[in-house]
Amino acid sequence: MQNPEGHRETLHQMAAALHTEGLIDQLEQFDMNEVADAAYWHAVEELQNSPGQYRGASTYDVVQVENGKLLGTISRSIFNFESDEPRGASFPYDGKVYSDADGVRLTLGLSRKIGTISGLMLELNGRRYQLVETERVISGVDYKPIDDPDAYRAMVDVAQVAQEERDLRAFEKVRPHIESAAFCMCPACLDRFDARDDCPTCTGKGFVTKLPPAGLR
Ligand SMILES: [Zn+2]
Repeated sequence: MQNPEGHRETLHQMAAALHTEGLIDQLEQFDMNEVADAAYWHAVEELQNSPGQYRGASTYDVVQVENGKLLGTISRSIFNFESDEPRGASFPYDGKVYSDADGVRLTLGLSRKIGTISGLMLELNGRRYQLVETERVISGVDYKPIDDPDAYRAMVDVAQVAQEERDLRAFEKVRPHIESAAFCMCPACLDRFDARDDCPTCTGKGFVTKLPPAGLR
């Protein structure tokens, strides 16, 4: 599920509409909302345990893994090369990303070459490219991913408390920003309080930048 906040909102709206129409009573509406909230927490836990995934509404830099070179950008499914490669008069853009049951694919217009996207990794012409999110739409507003370490740490702390207390309102506000941030949880200490302080990977911060410098990969 790409947008658990939106999904939960939709279910709540449906329950409210059914109640307004007189098709369910208030208790049933309350039950439906409870189910929607439980599904939300479940989806969130799944997302926390899965690597990043491609989102049609986001903007990405497409970076070659072996040398960190920028191949181009994907913005709301439209791909354009960084360089001014000829694209042919009939193409308003260089390529387009398609998602369906078979997976996510990047189809280039002029060459008709097709790349496959799994997680946030693109394979094209035998090369591997990392998709680095540079912009995301959250509740209809464009946001740049958080790249300030202090702001990120504060967000994570708020989210942890909110999750423990099942404070849905607070949690759903911060979660998309944490997910799209330039940082992710440290894979070595998993931001666990006892292991974090002595962790050489994150030097006690509990998080690392998502894209390690070229050469370390
Ligand atoms: Zn660590």
